[in-house]
Amino acid sequence: MTLDALVFYSPVDDPQAWRKALASELPDIDFRVDPDVGDPDEISFALTWLPPKGFFHRFRNLKLVTNLGAGADALLNRDDLVPVPITRLSDPGMVSLMTSYVVYAVTRYARDMHIFERATRRGEWHYVHPRSLSEIKVGILGLGELGAHAAQTLSGMGYDVYGWSRTLKNIAGVACFAGREALDQVLGQCEIVVSLLPATGDTRALLGARELALMPRGAKFINASRSAVVDEDALIEALRSGAIGEATLDVFNVEPLPRNHPFWTLDNVLITPHLASITIPALAVRNVAESIRRVRRGEEPLHRVDPRRGY
Ligand code: NDP
Repeated sequence: MTLDALVFYSPVDDPQAWRKALASELPDIDFRVDPDVGDPDEISFALTWLPPKGFFHRFRNLKLVTNLGAGADALLNRDDLVPVPITRLSDPGMVSLMTSYVVYAVTRYARDMHIFERATRRGEWHYVHPRSLSEIKVGILGLGELGAHAAQTLSGMGYDVYGWSRTLKNIAGVACFAGREALDQVLGQCEIVVSLLPATGDTRALLGARELALMPRGAKFINASRSAVVDEDALIEALRSGAIGEATLDVFNVEPLPRNHPFWTLDNVLITPHLASITIPALAVRNVAESIRRVRRGEEPLHRVDPRRGY
């Protein structure tokens, strides 16, 4: 019996692209796509995105689960997963795609493009004098693989960038803050706030009515990480009242966002369908393969998720 097969499951990623990419790094890997898994006892590795409830019950000999994305929240607190190391993806392709999303969303507001989009629809020549980017304070919540790069890039463009994380960071050109108390300080001064925080027990509904009200009136909010970090009802209320002027949202409590959801009716919300960043197999495969090699040698995989921390 070969105890070294890998099971692949994803509702969005292309199994054939992953099969090809992985074969170039690990020619001996026995790549099986769910539901054609053969003997489940032969499965040692899982490469999955949003596997359904009970998915892992079948695989008693798992040695490593690799999350096909950066946010591994869907793999934590499950009752079908034996204690086995979980890794998440982190690769330069994912980082640069996320930075492009954040730079676009921030700059759309900083350069008043949202105003010109509406003026264009009205057929109006509507002049708004541009502001220097150095006057515009942007707060990045979460300074991990994605947040740190986005913050550095915005700072390099000339924005006045503030960053917030659990532990204090030192990022050139970014005013860094850490810990719950410092969040109020960051929110209080930033006119554009971007969430790149993972969904964890500690970040759940971190941005509620109180926190949204701390932001300068008319502030812009960009959520490119997980909807769980913000109280959606409070956000809708703040967008209706103008306390929050505009929002760019890539993530939602229910996805796809239901047709009758209030976000669709708000003129000051830009909705994107959870694609701020994606995993590109050809770029991400090196880390995936390296983690498998390490586990085969009895070593720690790369980018291991800490279930107690939740990310
Ligand atoms: P990382 O784990 O590298 O970074 C997470 C950051 O959040 C760290 O800086 C961490 O602090 C900070 N953080 C975590 N908990 C807290 C807390 N309680 N208080 C303050 N800061 C906290 O994750 P990534 O940067 O790789 O990804 C971030 C998230 O983006 C993912 O978890 C995922 O949910 C989301 N994502 C969304 C995508 C999309 O398409 N919409 C695509 C990819 C990712 P510290 O540095 O101190 O540990």
